[in-house]
Amino acid sequence: MASPMDIALAEARAAAARGEIPVGAVVMTGDGTVLARSGNAVEARADASAHAELLALRAAAAARGGPRLSDCDLYVTLEPCPMCAQAISFFRIRRLVFGAYDPKGGGVDHGARVFDAPSCHHRPEVVGGVREAEASALLRDFFGRKPFPSTPGGAAKRINPVGTRSEPTGRAEG
Ligand code: ZN
Repeated sequence: MASPMDIALAEARAAAARGEIPVGAVVMTGDGTVLARSGNAVEARADASAHAELLALRAAAAARGGPRLSDCDLYVTLEPCPMCAQAISFFRIRRLVFGAYDPKGGGVDHGARVFDAPSCHHRPEVVGGVREAEASALLRDFFGRKPFPSTPGGAAKRINPVGTRSEPTGRAEG
């Protein structure tokens, strides 16, 4: 049986074949059922917000008939951008698993670090770097072998422990 990240990678490959940046996402229920799967569809939909994660989250919520996905996990081939990270929080995803890190556009382990912000009221468990080599190879191929930004570590790493969220410190960063 295909793993959730296999399905997300298949969606990313299908997106590339359509001329979209190759990113794929899957929403799984707690019992391992695929609730929704999607690839990036920015060009096809003429919608700059049609990222794979957002489309999969919306489809999953529609399938469920409710806006919250508290018992669901999101698998995506690339570190989510700040928009998608915020949506992941709004949909109350239990666990986020992503493939390649994105130092330039990511909003989880880079940049805005959305889940660490005091304004973030639901923080999923996060695991990054799962099937990272395959996910970044897809992006590299798509962008014509331009080097995709290299990533820390190289192995899957847990970014925050289960069930924790950082407490607001009340102090401005940087
Ligand atoms: Zn996004």
